[in-house]
Amino acid sequence: MLQVKVKLLTLHQLISTNNNLTFTTMAYVINDDCIACGTCIDECPVGAISEGDKYSINPDACTECGTCADVCPSEAIHLG
Ligand code: SF4
Ligand code: SF4
Repeated sequence: MLQVKVKLLTLHQLISTNNNLTFTTMAYVINDDCIACGTCIDECPVGAISEGDKYSINPDACTECGTCADVCPSEAIHLG
């Protein structure tokens, strides 16, 4: 008689089996070349940029659209 063995995996085992699959995103960052001109903040479609002596980008909000980097006159914004 043909016997078929079926191994049932628990959810934990499935997650463990695939734990080498990671999905990472990179946010844009503003470096020390920022002159605080304010050009980028109005261009960000998701409001991820904050004012300061040197402006900063919230990495959790940045969608990596690149608009801010395109308009920065100091080329102070790059992918982190
Ligand atoms: S890359 Fe786009 S979403 Fe991210 S801070 Fe710049 S303008 Fe905002
Ligand atoms: S556009 Fe560039 S220089 Fe101006 S505030 Fe933004 S990061 Fe700073």
